[in-house]
Amino acid sequence: MRIEKCFFCSGPVYPGHGMMFVRNDCKVFRFCRSKCHRNFKKKRNPRKTRWTKAFRKSAGKELTVDNSLEFEKRRCIPVKYNRELWNKTVEAMKRVEAIKQKRSARFIMNRLKKGKELEKAEAINEVKKNIHLIKAPHAGDSKKLEEKMVQKLAEDVEMDE
Ligand SMILES: [Zn+2]
Repeated sequence: MRIEKCFFCSGPVYPGHGMMFVRNDCKVFRFCRSKCHRNFKKKRNPRKTRWTKAFRKSAGKELTVDNSLEFEKRRCIPVKYNRELWNKTVEAMKRVEAIKQKRSARFIMNRLKKGKELEKAEAINEVKKNIHLIKAPHAGDSKKLEEKMVQKLAEDVEMDE
């Protein structure tokens, strides 16, 4: 039995779940749940709907170019049933899946880390720019104070990591 892919959210459609729509030009659309079917009927574009895989991929939030994703395509070739071969296939599928998950997890972590770094850089800039608001007006060496603040912030940043 095949586990199909939802046309809208790209989630798995297990046998006996969701629904299938066959358009009058014979194109088959499968949906994992009524939520996806409803959105399709409203003519929404999966790429513009934030919770779908298509959106996440087109917005650069998920791994899109990686050779671990290429393996899945090969599975579309039908194979004659052979117990030994089948077991091997299942084994390989599991391994590929594990690798894929690990890689996309790493990708997401990197993405989050980058955002955090940008945030920190911005915070440092902010302090530098508005130092005159923080320091006491008659504190003589403002330059020194500024440096101290920036240094402290940088230390905090290091501690965070
Ligand atoms: Zn779906």
